[in-house]
Amino acid sequence: MKNLLIISNWKLNGNKYLINSFISKISHIIKSCNFSIVIAPPLLYLDYMQQIIKSYKCDNYISLSAQNIDIHNYGSFTGEISAKMLKDIGIQYAIIGHADRKIFHKENNNTILKKFTLLKSEGIFPILCIGETKKEYQNNQTIAICIKQIDNIVKNLGILALQDTIIAYEPIWAIGNKIVINSTYIQKIHNAIRNYLMQINYKISKNISIQYGGSVNFNNVLNLLKQPDIDGVLIGKASLDTENFIKILNVINNNLYSF
Ligand code: PEP
Repeated sequence: MKNLLIISNWKLNGNKYLINSFISKISHIIKSCNFSIVIAPPLLYLDYMQQIIKSYKCDNYISLSAQNIDIHNYGSFTGEISAKMLKDIGIQYAIIGHADRKIFHKENNNTILKKFTLLKSEGIFPILCIGETKKEYQNNQTIAICIKQIDNIVKNLGILALQDTIIAYEPIWAIGNKIVINSTYIQKIHNAIRNYLMQINYKISKNISIQYGGSVNFNNVLNLLKQPDIDGVLIGKASLDTENFIKILNVINNNLYSF
């Protein structure tokens, strides 16, 4: 049985009301789930969600993630938050390199490397998003692009930096769309990523969690998780609807032995 991880990315959605109803509704089911759950609410609500999770005695079952950090730890950078601040309030994960940040904030390999480095120095698990554009996909460049994005970390910080790191393969063209996902194709990409890491360090390649993200929903989640190299899913839109998210958690929990 795999060590599954399910990540819910709320993006710029939610409020105190949703946080309360979401946690109260999932609090019963998650206590019987045999996999890990990470929720990434908007930064402003991290501390609030943490308190609500504690009040439902769910802190052993749900971890929290930031959706982003700044490339600095402190200073004159109005509007930013740092890895150090996340550590200060007890946040364990942070998403970096998400497609939304690449598209709307022009993030590149250089800024992602800086963010990765800061997270590691604070002992926070980076959820490193990688993935290709539609054009790169059409040009058959997917694997090369993914490897280049991983290499950005490995060549600068060494392969051991990938210990306690989660890789999230998210094809940019597949995020937030109602596309039909071919799980065999996604498996091929995940396998290529793992094989690439295996050439450098066998242990890291076996232990690293490689997530898939991009229009995951109740209908496709099982086929994805049945693939040997897909260790979990990063869910955006479909995780924001509480009833739907509960359905997803239930179907995963009921099929754990087929993964
Ligand atoms: C995401 O936010 O990273 C994501 C994968 O979103 P969606 O599930 O809506 O495609």
